[in-house]
Amino acid sequence: MTGGTYAVIGDPIDHSLSPAMHSAAFRELGMDCSYIAYRVPRGELEEGVDSLRGAGISGFNVTIPHKEGIMGLLDRTDETCSLVGAANTVKDEGGSLRGYNTDMGGFLEPLKGAALGGASALLLGAGGAARAIAAGLAREGASKVTIANRTPERGRDLAAFAGRLGLEARAVRLADVSDVSGYDLIVNATAAGMGGGPSPVPLGRIDKNTIAYDIVYMPMRTGFVREAQEAGARVIHGYEMLLGQAALAFEIWHGREAPRAAMKRALLGGA
Ligand code: NAP
Repeated sequence: MTGGTYAVIGDPIDHSLSPAMHSAAFRELGMDCSYIAYRVPRGELEEGVDSLRGAGISGFNVTIPHKEGIMGLLDRTDETCSLVGAANTVKDEGGSLRGYNTDMGGFLEPLKGAALGGASALLLGAGGAARAIAAGLAREGASKVTIANRTPERGRDLAAFAGRLGLEARAVRLADVSDVSGYDLIVNATAAGMGGGPSPVPLGRIDKNTIAYDIVYMPMRTGFVREAQEAGARVIHGYEMLLGQAALAFEIWHGREAPRAAMKRALLGGA
């Protein structure tokens, strides 16, 4: 099947980079599909999904604030989605809506070859994205995770979740993190850094062989990325996860390999 209409729903949605990435993929492969951004405010998700069903949508992405709420409106969910408790990709399968979570796989894509088995990670943040990341770390066989969050209770909840997945997990207050040495991987999954500002933790003492991964993609060079680069660490940018989750969504919907190079050009050209 090459036709179909796709969308991303959320609020705010005006600056979503998903339409540019998916439209570039359609152009690259000569597919007769379209992809639009559709604003669905908090509290209006059910009506929003009904109108998408009515319009015969083939699939849609889900972003803030609906990734958890959408779960109650789906007919079926895949295993990752149930594990993380959130969906970011929905496919219409003969009138039934099936949810997937490609944030976990998208997070892991740029880490291919990084040998996470036995790794020790510092995870900043305890929101929806951090939960998908903790699940990804467990799946790849990491051994330890320290979760640092502004709100301690949320950090403890995520540490308990990570513990249930087999990680040796502890929670600390974000403001108490002063020593970032000794980790194989440090991930910023807080919303701090969106639109500028310094890293949420000081990175001056980061080890040179630590991977510093910021999932915030706007701006591309966040304070976290800048400080990690200045300290000589290897950096992974937020756009790489964004590209990964979009490519995996494309593959779920269309059953063919996503044209990642074209999608990346659209992403970086429009960022
Ligand atoms: P979320 O569920 O709302 O969680 C937000 C997290 O950020 C919480 O841990 C929150 O701490 C923390 N936080 C917010 N403002 C903060 C501040 N000023 N200082 C310190 N901590 C702060 O959001 P999410 O869905 O997990 O998304 C988090 C970030 O990841 C967003 O910037 C989002 O754009 C980005 N993201 C990127 C991708 C990608 O593909 N690259 C995918 C998903 C998300 P509290 O618990 O204390 O409130």
